[in-house]
Amino acid sequence: MKKKIAVVGSGIAGLTIANLFKKNLNFEIVVYEKEKILSLEEGYGIQLAPNSVSILNKIGLSSIDNKEFSNPSNLNFYSNDNHKICDLNLSRFNSEEFKYTTLKRSVLIEFLKNKLFANNLRFGKEVKKISQIKEKLLINFKDNTNDLVDFIVISDGVFSNTKSIVENKSIQPVYNGSIAIRTILKNLPESNYDKNSISLIMLKNAHIVIYPINKKGELNVVCIIRQKLSNNIDLKALIKKEIIPQNKNLESLFENKLEYWPIYTSKKPSKSIYENLFYIGDAFFTFPPTMAQGASQSIEAANELFNFLSKDNKHTPDLFFKKRLERIKVINRRSKLNYRIFHVSNPILKTIRNESLKIMLKNKIFLNNYIGKVYN
Ligand SMILES: Cc1cc2nc3c(=O)[nH]c(=O)nc-3n(C[C@H](O)[C@H](O)[C@H](O)COP(=O)(O)OP(=O)(O)OC[C@H]3O[C@@H](n4cnc5c(N)ncnc54)[C@H](O)[C@@H]3O)c2cc1C
Repeated sequence: MKKKIAVVGSGIAGLTIANLFKKNLNFEIVVYEKEKILSLEEGYGIQLAPNSVSILNKIGLSSIDNKEFSNPSNLNFYSNDNHKICDLNLSRFNSEEFKYTTLKRSVLIEFLKNKLFANNLRFGKEVKKISQIKEKLLINFKDNTNDLVDFIVISDGVFSNTKSIVENKSIQPVYNGSIAIRTILKNLPESNYDKNSISLIMLKNAHIVIYPINKKGELNVVCIIRQKLSNNIDLKALIKKEIIPQNKNLESLFENKLEYWPIYTSKKPSKSIYENLFYIGDAFFTFPPTMAQGASQSIEAANELFNFLSKDNKHTPDLFFKKRLERIKVINRRSKLNYRIFHVSNPILKTIRNESLKIMLKNKIFLNNYIGKVYN
């Protein structure tokens, strides 16, 4: 008898695990998504480090049209006056098959969706209740339909409403004190940034990341800026007040349509009360975006859970949770440290930071420990 898996949420994590199980004939997999359709409009970028590209290659990522992604080979660090401090050679972490990749999130989602069969995906489905019936789990949806399954994988993102329903308590992420302002550039304005690399400009209480998202010249710009949470933020005014005084040349980056997201992070991951229910992606743990590992970790978690469940090991809940926890601790610590380093404002500390960066990014042991352990 095939085992049935229900996945809740069709983001990067949910679609990845569905693709991995699609080829395993011992399982039947269905993804339940709250929205009526998968939004493919959103054109913002995502960075995928080699650790996730190696997994996506197993489901055919390399077949994506060559024009639709980029493989930046460097991460260049700049001070607020556009002076290049140093660079990190990203390609040192690449292999022939797995390269640091940047692309539009919508391109990745469309690729993952197109690899599934239509009956793997159900839209307009929101969980109302989950209960245990012998060895199985019964899902009741808000539209009064239900499904009896062997395993449930929850991948409904940072706010994971389903987690609160399942665990029967309110589990909320916390606002990390900054917002992400995002825009797309059709081409790079006159500057000393390299259009084929990732540029990281470190400012007072903010940093900007620019990277190519395809080979058509389009670039993703994201500005992470410390800001009180509010419903109505005038983004152009905020950029003018906080960013432009630090370098007026940065104005040209923010001329197009701007959007913003408040950044939320998780408090603590926890195991489910059910032995056959698992959390992956942001629903398991949401990091600050300063290591650009959120999507990569969603993909890694999907692959780990796929491997454990395929082997039918009765210790899967403990093993999966332990492995994820170890990984999360390392990446969360680095993401938080990066956040503080990128936003240093004291002139003396800035000089120390810049000089230390120059030394550390040449040190192989440091690079292999701080970044290699995450990317490989
Ligand atoms: C500013 C910013 C920049 C980032 N940049 C990067 C980057 O460069 N690289 C990187 O690796 N990561 C990045 N991330 C993080 C990355 O985007 C996320 O970690 C990743 O998308 C999480 O994937 P997910 O599948 O867990 O959740 P999501 O992508 O949020 O998907 C959740 C899905 O569940 C659905 N859903 C929600 N509620 C329900 C429900 N109740 N029932 C059913 N379905 C539901 C949603 O509609 C959605 O389809 C960034 C994040 C931010 C904020």
